[in-house]
Amino acid sequence: MQRTNEKTKISFEWDEKDDTTDKNSIISSSHSTVKNNQKKKIRKDKIEDERNWTEKSVNEMTDRDWRIFREDFDIVVKGGRVPPPLRSWDETTLLPLEIINAITDLKFKEPTAVQKQCIPIAMNGIDLVGLAETGSGKTASYIIPMCCQIAKLPRMNDEIAKDGPYGLILVPTRELAEQIEREATKYARQFEFRVQAIIGGVSIEKQSRLIRGGCEILVATPGRLIDCLNNSIVVLNQCHFIVLDEADKMIEMNFEKDVNTILENMPTHIQRQTMLFSATMPPEVENIAMKYLKKRVTVAVGEVGRAVERIEQEVMWIKHENAKRDKLLELLYDADPPVIVFCNLKKEVDAIAKFVSNAGFRSTSIHGNKSQEARNSALEAFKSGKFDVIVATDVLGRGIDISGVTLVVNYSLPKTISAYTHRIGRTGRAGRTGRAVSFLTKDDTEIMYDLKKMLESTKNTVPEELAQHPSAAQKPDKKKSDQPIGGGQESEE
Ligand code: ADP
Ligand code: MG
Repeated sequence: MQRTNEKTKISFEWDEKDDTTDKNSIISSSHSTVKNNQKKKIRKDKIEDERNWTEKSVNEMTDRDWRIFREDFDIVVKGGRVPPPLRSWDETTLLPLEIINAITDLKFKEPTAVQKQCIPIAMNGIDLVGLAETGSGKTASYIIPMCCQIAKLPRMNDEIAKDGPYGLILVPTRELAEQIEREATKYARQFEFRVQAIIGGVSIEKQSRLIRGGCEILVATPGRLIDCLNNSIVVLNQCHFIVLDEADKMIEMNFEKDVNTILENMPTHIQRQTMLFSATMPPEVENIAMKYLKKRVTVAVGEVGRAVERIEQEVMWIKHENAKRDKLLELLYDADPPVIVFCNLKKEVDAIAKFVSNAGFRSTSIHGNKSQEARNSALEAFKSGKFDVIVATDVLGRGIDISGVTLVVNYSLPKTISAYTHRIGRTGRAGRTGRAVSFLTKDDTEIMYDLKKMLESTKNTVPEELAQHPSAAQKPDKKKSDQPIGGGQESEE
């Protein structure tokens, strides 16, 4: 990576349109195509008279073809008979013109695996649990069916708006709420629906003004939503659709109680569809699904909760904390931007960000103590390529979509493997390969057991020091790993 001698402060004056990141990158299907061809060959040998599904029209598909189709895309469905997946965007009569237009604008060539199966299920009003790794396209899996179904409800007007939004999306962080507000708007505007985010860090008065005009879809973090409900700024008297997005992260961030409070207080007089999306399925998330999702169907794609094979994971044993800095610089010199460096503590982020920037790299930082405006600016500047390095806490660890990150460095390792998985998931998104390098010290005992297992199962090298370490030999006490990611250093609300 190039260093710059420019020490001047970079201002934050730019437009969305200056953003040159490739937001519409097509999730590669080459992997599945190769697999399809291999399977095709094997099957041809076995069953001479039967064509592979790729050679058939959608009307010719048999139950067996659909089963093979699901296998080819690593889709597993549990919980009863479900409608067949989408083979493509245009082969179905399921999607209205508004959605086709949105997808054409977005240049999405074909649905991702999770979209293929979740969209038809959700369109049928079935409660759904969708499990798939970060970056697999879960957002569109629920936004598309939600918009299609809201289109069938009476058109919002001032009178109807008094009873609140038709759809609610609960997410763990402000950044994610804003990202989803933007993403959802790409579909919703085709129907002339309004999407509004209510998040901490924006004054209640301003928020109340924004939603007073009515909106079809509300995106909210649980804490802030409860505030707004208590102050009667928001009512949910006609909320027909609820999505819990990044449910595992909401649990990790201690929102379990808030989520329960919200769901328990939903009005009982209307029929409601509830959908839950997550990358992993810890017991707390399972409990929420059991409690609030009726006759649910679970769709799991790929190896849920696992860091994908395409991320090259390297763990470096670091003897002394102060050796980390030199190592970090070495990594940054060799890497192509953009690079994310994760730390556990806010003050560590500040120190490392300063260090990296003094070493001449174009870098910025983000953590929960910064103002919302500063966080947004830093994130946008990083996304637009104004900075090559971002130093962050787990505020950045999940769901936020930054394309093209080539390297994730765990300057300090998180305490849980789930946080680790989501941090490294920032690279290798949308089908690309990525690299994650983690600095491991003798103090990271809590993660050692899971980390070793993770490296083994993904066929990455386990450093000798980790392989031999007593803490890697057995799982630590359960309760400790229940703490929020980053050891509870971060709280979003
Ligand atoms: P997740 O919620 O599973 O982490 P997102 O919904 O944030 O994933 O999607 C990740 C990225 O993939 C986003 O940039 C999104 O615009 C893009 N994407 C989503 N669906 C498709 C698709 N069908 N084809 C190409 N890119 C897609
Ligand atoms: Mg998501």
